[in-house]
Amino acid sequence: MVEPVYFSSKEERINWIKHADYNLFKLDSDWVIIDLMTDSGTGAMSEQQWAEVMLGDESYAGSESYYKLARTVEEIMGFPHMVPTHQGRAAENILFSATVKEGDIIPGNAHFDTTKGHIEFRKAHAVDCTIDAAFDTTIEHPFKGNVDLDKLKKILDEHPREKIPFINLTITCNTVGGQPVSLENIKAVKALADDYGIPVYMDIARYAENAYFIKKREAAYKDKSIQEIVHETFACCDTCWMSSKKDGLANMGGLIATKNEELFTTISNLTIIYEGFITYGGMSGRDMGALAVGLREALEFDYLESRVEQVQYLGEKLMEYGVPIQTPVGGHAIFIDALRFFPNVPQAQYPGQLLAVESYIEGGVRGTEIGTLLADRDPATGLDRYPELDTLRFAIPRRVYSRNHMDYVAATMRNVFERRNQYTKGFKIKWQAPILRHFTVKLERNV
Ligand SMILES: *Cc1c(COP(=O)(O)O)cnc(C)c1O
Repeated sequence: MVEPVYFSSKEERINWIKHADYNLFKLDSDWVIIDLMTDSGTGAMSEQQWAEVMLGDESYAGSESYYKLARTVEEIMGFPHMVPTHQGRAAENILFSATVKEGDIIPGNAHFDTTKGHIEFRKAHAVDCTIDAAFDTTIEHPFKGNVDLDKLKKILDEHPREKIPFINLTITCNTVGGQPVSLENIKAVKALADDYGIPVYMDIARYAENAYFIKKREAAYKDKSIQEIVHETFACCDTCWMSSKKDGLANMGGLIATKNEELFTTISNLTIIYEGFITYGGMSGRDMGALAVGLREALEFDYLESRVEQVQYLGEKLMEYGVPIQTPVGGHAIFIDALRFFPNVPQAQYPGQLLAVESYIEGGVRGTEIGTLLADRDPATGLDRYPELDTLRFAIPRRVYSRNHMDYVAATMRNVFERRNQYTKGFKIKWQAPILRHFTVKLERNV
């Protein structure tokens, strides 16, 4: 399928973004030339997936499409129990309703924003135990998503067992740059968790990309297949949830999978309340079928290599132009370091958002801020939190864009970068929602 793209003028874009209150979530997609806002649900499906859509079984209970999905999850991930949900955050809602209570502590590596939202909404605390190297974009480290075992151990020692329902491993680690977690680290976290009798839950939106990085960067696994690495990963996991809009190669969907039968019973009841009957959860039959195929395709080495290399290619081009990015480049996205890009713009004026707005105006390229806006306020003080990384993320949709599109994006950023020193002011907030503010925030230029 092809889609014509309208080449808007800079004047049009200046006007549109102003009307959108400088919030890129409020732009019509027709106003965007290259859309790198997210790699979530924006990929292209394969012919095999479309064929499976035609075979969708829309039965309320016991749909064959459900069994195709459940069998796939059991075979490739090793979980005997699974419920589909309409997307990742619905899985979080159900799983955390079953496990997280007020005052709980959830240690992990750079919890994703919706994950953190669901934890804090329940008046519990997400404690980030990612290694320090993750927060310095200039450090080269093959597994910047790794958990710092000392930080984790300290949290486990400081709090009673019943306050920590699980350890949350995010693979790959989206918020620090799509950075992978090594199998050595995954196994060490599992061993530590076992010592304390705490289960390991994984947020597995990009587990296939994580397995690819393990094969490429972790010497002990270079001769293992992606499937073998995935099996070893999930051997360390009690329960996982997935936004299948990423490595499920689907446009919508999610799931919770577990080895814990008792937890599965609780989750099943909550799924019926929040999503739908357990053999469809939040999904239609045809979408479950397409997901079952997508989960397999995402584990093909050639697919993973072309996917990750496209992201690397954009990263290399940007570095050639001197644009400061998180290195090494992660699996699904480029993260441009806005604090290094705009050294004269205070972090309190949202330099990551400024970069997002200026890239849109310059070339119609839409990215998303992963910085101070996204980090939101401290629930205790109501004041902005200043994350160590303030970035603009360009997430690359799967199987959509060509190298030529990447060249266009890089050239756009080169143009903005050339006039970087002219910027001294960013934005201030006109209006914000109480939680997950970045989706709906209204901004104005700080003049
Ligand atoms: C996307 C994502 C989620 C949330 O999933 P949605 O499908 O967007 O609701 C959770 N965790 C990670 C790591 C993600 O990337």
